Amino acid sequence: MQRYLWQQAGGLRHVYDTERDIAAPGRALSALCGQVVTPTVDDITGLWLDRTCLTCDREVRVRLGFPASEIPPASELEGAK
Ligand SMILES: [Zn+2]
Repeated sequence: MQRYLWQQAGGLRHVYDTERDIAAPGRALSALCGQVVTPTVDDITGLWLDRTCLTCDREVRVRLGFPASEIPPASELEGAK
C-alpha cells in the first residue's frame, strides 16, 4: 500500500498519511496541507469531482522526493486558492 493516498473531503481532493489516518466516512483525517477534514459516504464511494488541494499536491511531491522542477513554489499556491 502506498503511504500517501488521495481522499476527497471538505470540498477538495486532499492527500493523507496512511501511517496516521484511515479514510472512512465520518472519520476525521489530517490532510498534508494541515486541514482536518471528514469524508462523507459520498466522498468515499462516489465520484471525485472536487478540485485538487494544491497545498497537498505540493506537500506529497516534497515527501515523495519529486525533482525540484516538479514541485511548484509555495508562493504560487497562495494565489491559487
Ligand atoms: Zn489538502
